[in-house]
Amino acid sequence: MLNVFTKPFTRQEAIPEAGIERAVEIMRSGKLHRYNTDEGETAESALLEQDFASYLGVPYCLACASGGYALHIALKAAGLQPGDKVLTNAFTLAPVPGAINNAGGVPVLVEIDANYCVDLAHLKAMMISSGSRFFMMSHMRGHLADMDAVVDLCKQHEVILIEDCAHTMGASWNGKKSGTFGDVSCFSTQTYKHINSGEGGLLTTQDENIIARAIMHSGSYMLYQRHGTVPQEETFKDIRLDTPNYSGRMDNLRAAILRAQLPLLEENCRRWNELYESAESALADIPGIDVPLRPSKEVYVGSSIQFRPQALTDPEHITRFVKACGARGVELKWFGSLDPQGFTSRYDSWRYLGDAPVLPQTLQILANTLDMRIPLTFHLQDMALIAGIIAEELASTVADTTN
Ligand SMILES: *Cc1c(COP(=O)(O)O)cnc(C)c1O
Repeated sequence: MLNVFTKPFTRQEAIPEAGIERAVEIMRSGKLHRYNTDEGETAESALLEQDFASYLGVPYCLACASGGYALHIALKAAGLQPGDKVLTNAFTLAPVPGAINNAGGVPVLVEIDANYCVDLAHLKAMMISSGSRFFMMSHMRGHLADMDAVVDLCKQHEVILIEDCAHTMGASWNGKKSGTFGDVSCFSTQTYKHINSGEGGLLTTQDENIIARAIMHSGSYMLYQRHGTVPQEETFKDIRLDTPNYSGRMDNLRAAILRAQLPLLEENCRRWNELYESAESALADIPGIDVPLRPSKEVYVGSSIQFRPQALTDPEHITRFVKACGARGVELKWFGSLDPQGFTSRYDSWRYLGDAPVLPQTLQILANTLDMRIPLTFHLQDMALIAGIIAEELASTVADTTN
C-alpha cells in the first residue's frame, strides 16, 4: 500500500485567544464600525493602522476591505487617470490585473525570469516603449526581485512604484522591509496570507497626499481624523472634496483579530521558513526537479514553494502527475494550465485585457511550474512525507510516459 498524506493544505492555525477575547468584547459592545467610537476612544481599526505602520516603519497605514481593494485605491490615490498604462509582472494572481482594470488603467504585462521575479531587462524595455508612469509590482509567491535595481529603474524613468506585498509581509531585501520600497504598498490579510482576518487589506505609504486620498477613497466621509495615522488637517483641504468615496473600510472585528496576530508574525515567518527549507532541500534532492534560487539579499517568507520537474514538458503528463499526487493527498497547483483552476491564473486567461501579448519566457517557465502551499499547521516530518510522495509519483509518471 502506498502511503498517503492526510492533512489539508488549506487549514490555518486558530486565531490567538487574545484576538478572540477582544473580538467578543467588541461584539458585546455593538461597536463594530470603525467610526462608531465614544468621545476620546480610538477604534480598533485605527489602532491596527498604528500598529502596522510602526511594524513596517512608515508613517501611514490604511486598513481596508481586501488586498485587491487596497491595490485599486493605491492606483487612484497615486494619480492614475482612466486609460493610463500600468506595468505589471505577467505572473501574478487575478486581483492584480483586476485592480488595474477597476481603477481604469490598462495592464502592460512584463516577463518574469526563471526565479519568478520580474525580468529587469524586459521591465526597462517596457518602461521605455510603453511610456507608462506606473509599475504595480507583484512579489508573486514571495519572490523579491533586486529591489535596489527596481527602485533605480523607476526613478530613472519617473515611474511610480506600487508594491503588491500579498506574499511578502515579513520579507525584506538587503535589510529593508518589503513594502518600504514603493511609493505605496498593499498587503492582504485574506485567510491564505501571513496574517488572517478572512478578508482584509492594508495600504501603506510615506506620502501624505497619497494617504489622504486613500483614506477619503476608502469611505471615511468627513471622519478622516479618526484614522490611526493621519497627515495634518491642511493636507485634506481640497482632497476631502475632490476624492470620491469608494466604500471599502475595515471593521473593528477584523482589526481585533489582526492586532493579536501581528506580534506573532516574526516567529511565524521563522516557522514558515523552517518548513520551506526542509521542503526545498528534499525537493532539490529529487533528480530532475528545479527549485528557484533565493538570492542572499532576500529574506523571504516560505508560505508556498514552487518547483519545476524538467522531465515533464507535455501538459498531459503534468496533469497526470498532479492528479497522481492529489490522489495521495499532496495538493499541487499548476500555474501553466491553459484553463485556470482554483486560485491559479495564467495571464492569457484574463480575456478582458484583449489580445494577450506573447511572453515566451513567462510561458516557458510557467509551462511546468508547480506550486504547493505550506500552511503552519504542517510539521517538519510532514515535509519529508510529502517530498517522498512527489519523488515516487514523478518517477512513476516519467516511467509511464517515456516507454
Ligand atoms: C491575495 C492576493 C492579492 C489580494 O487579494 P485579496 O484576496 O483581495 O486580499 C493580491 N495579489 C496577490 C498576488 C495575492 O495572492
